[in-house]
Amino acid sequence: MSLKGKVAVVTGAASGIGKRIAEVYAESGAKVAIVDLNLPAASTAARELKAKGKAALGIQMDVTSEESVEAGMAQVLKKWGKIDILVSNAGIQIVKPVQEFTFDEWRRMIAVHLDGAFLTTRAALRDMYRRGDGGAIIYMGSVHSHEASKLKAPYVTAKHGLLGLARTVAKEGAEKNVRANVICPGFVKTPLVEKQIPEQAKKFGITRQEVIKNIMLKNTVDGEFTTVDDVARVARFLADFETNALTGQSFVVSHGWFMQ
Ligand code: NAD
Repeated sequence: MSLKGKVAVVTGAASGIGKRIAEVYAESGAKVAIVDLNLPAASTAARELKAKGKAALGIQMDVTSEESVEAGMAQVLKKWGKIDILVSNAGIQIVKPVQEFTFDEWRRMIAVHLDGAFLTTRAALRDMYRRGDGGAIIYMGSVHSHEASKLKAPYVTAKHGLLGLARTVAKEGAEKNVRANVICPGFVKTPLVEKQIPEQAKKFGITRQEVIKNIMLKNTVDGEFTTVDDVARVARFLADFETNALTGQSFVVSHGWFMQ
């Protein structure tokens, strides 16, 4: 698989899943914009890739801010002239029962996952449509795009919402050969999940091991975490698959936790 000559923007790429996707894209020949709220970490990730001879750029962006998204995407266009691939991946998690969420927490969750997906999609589409060369938009959904879990109301709501956005972009983008798909990982051991283990243990009054075994991996076929590499390989496949045969789909990568 080759992404040679392609320009990819990966949001939330300073850590976890996004970081690995950026690395795999760069290893496949793409020029990669490592976009994140955390500029020092994004710059470090870009420097690591550049030290290996890859083309990478660290960009600070708050995906919930229209101004910040427009400025960040403009930076990519100024540097490399186009955007072929967008991975809308930036995400956060807050776990608590519905009645304990503050309105600000709810809005923050929806903003990072849905406003962020909309704002980055809009900016990428404008370039893809202008050039007429097509493109790939990949949303980082979750098994929670299909399933609910206790304590995750805004996350589950937002991740379900991404399916709607992807399917609409798939229909609108088809005539310009822009594909939109959703990757739906199971639990992957990243900082986002590490943080949840003690929080869930406390909320449910169980041990960390019980959270992992009886909640996170309970319904997998093998009791294994999904890895950042598993997800990045699917992201590379979708970036490289250049026909509308695969568009408007969701790809569950979860060790069988959820089977569609
Ligand atoms: P992570 O915490 O390792 O990385 C998330 C990154 O997003 C961080 O670098 C953070 O700085 C960045 N970010 C947060 N808010 C941002 C904002 N407003 N603007 C720009 N960047 C922002 O988490 P991860 O586990 O790699 O998660 C990446 C994506 O994968 C998220 O959308 C998450 O919901 C999804 N996901 C994760 C898992 C999992 O088990 N880890 C499972 C399914 C889906």
